[in-house]
Amino acid sequence: MKAVAVFPGSREVRVVERDAPRIAQPDQVMLRMLDIGICGTDKEICSFEYGTPPPGDDHLVIGHESLAEIVEAGPAAGRLRPGDLVVPSVRRPCPHPGCRACRLGHQDYCYTGDFSERGIKEAHGFMTEYVVEHERYLNLVPPDLRDIAVLAEPLTIAEKALEQIFWVMRQRPPWLDPETPGEERGRGLSALVLGIGPVGLLGAMALASSGFTTYVYSRELPPSPRIDLVEAIGAEYVSSQAVTFADLAEKIGNIDLIYEAVGHSHFALAALRVLGTNGIFVLTGVPGLQAFVEADPARLMREMVLKNQVLLGTVNAGPDAFASALADLGEFRRRWPAVVRTLIAGRYPPEQAPDLILGRPAGIKSVIAFDAPA
Ligand SMILES: [Zn+2]
Ligand SMILES: [Zn+2]
Repeated sequence: MKAVAVFPGSREVRVVERDAPRIAQPDQVMLRMLDIGICGTDKEICSFEYGTPPPGDDHLVIGHESLAEIVEAGPAAGRLRPGDLVVPSVRRPCPHPGCRACRLGHQDYCYTGDFSERGIKEAHGFMTEYVVEHERYLNLVPPDLRDIAVLAEPLTIAEKALEQIFWVMRQRPPWLDPETPGEERGRGLSALVLGIGPVGLLGAMALASSGFTTYVYSRELPPSPRIDLVEAIGAEYVSSQAVTFADLAEKIGNIDLIYEAVGHSHFALAALRVLGTNGIFVLTGVPGLQAFVEADPARLMREMVLKNQVLLGTVNAGPDAFASALADLGEFRRRWPAVVRTLIAGRYPPEQAPDLILGRPAGIKSVIAFDAPA
């Protein structure tokens, strides 16, 4: 069977032939991979900045955003059956008995760093025809989400952040009532999204559908399909090439939430200066090596204390975030059917993966499908 793999030693990315996997343990299932999404992490891996093959292998099969169909289930796989659609999670637990996070099934909070991640770190990924996986790492997908469920994994970033944001809001005045319907939890509050890539856009959709008055701030200038998308979901786009942070803060008023999805430290630091009273700042981007800048840490610290601010970093996601992401994809389609139709830029055969990964992203999300016409 075919797979798309990166060879860090020889610095190559190409389609390879591999043996099809077999079910070896009773709780495993065989997956036929339907859609595999491409993202910035794949670009970093294929630029050899990141990504580690499994021990003993010279290559890593890439792909971590996916949708699959179960084609065979082991005798102890009781929850899922052939024909079911699933989205696999990405991170697998570390082996250390003392890691309380991993031992509780929350490897997204792993303490040791010795986890593996499919398609990223020491475990082959999903950009291949068949995969064998333990049932417990799979999230069941409603059949009517077949065309968009590949977006669930990138949406889990926002969902895990929102779980924590709403938890914090429940602990602080005016105390968000846990019974508040999903679409009203952000009512009366402003959210500023930094970045207009897939994580930023999916985050903006999640925030707007939770009732936040949502702004998206990035370098891009119109015309752009991404800016059109922001406007189509009832959020407002502001370009950093036209409006400064100070003017943006003046326009928005108290900025209650900043959701960073760029991975640029200078930009994030500038944004922290305009975070409002009782504001929550969520960081999701992973910056590479960047130039040093002068900062005024005393001012940042003073503001954070005097304004009761929260700074929250978040990575990866657990089963609750996957369930929320799948529920929200259905909600997005009910609210914005025309927008949702534009999210997937196209489905392409695996031979085109290297160019798509390393080229400039077109549209919102490009997807590899092994049955796509060449
Ligand atoms: Zn990704
Ligand atoms: Zn761990």
